[in-house]
Amino acid sequence: MARLSSEQQRILLSRDRALLMHRAVTHGCYIRAFSPREQLAYLINRLDLCGKISPFCRCMRCNGELHELESNEILGNLPQRVLEIRERFLRCGQCDHVYWEGSHYQVMKQWISQLCG
Ligand SMILES: [Zn+2]
Repeated sequence: MARLSSEQQRILLSRDRALLMHRAVTHGCYIRAFSPREQLAYLINRLDLCGKISPFCRCMRCNGELHELESNEILGNLPQRVLEIRERFLRCGQCDHVYWEGSHYQVMKQWISQLCG
């Protein structure tokens, strides 16, 4: 991870202080919090990411890019109720998982709004 972060010019995020002290790490950030929500809130504040984040554009399963589905694309394996009440669907370009703006989306959107004011 230390080598990859250096080669790819990434910031290494970790709770492992020894890893962050590795000489290959040029940019590291120690994450004190345990819960993912607290960790994300810390990072957004610490790295001044509000205004730079693009929520809902990557797949939560594989990190692939999401693309909006055209209305004529087949959505046959989605629940009928979802097809009836939702209009916008996104598909992962790597794993083909389909997302829509359901209740989970609204909760996440509200949380992001609270984090970034
Ligand atoms: Zn995916």
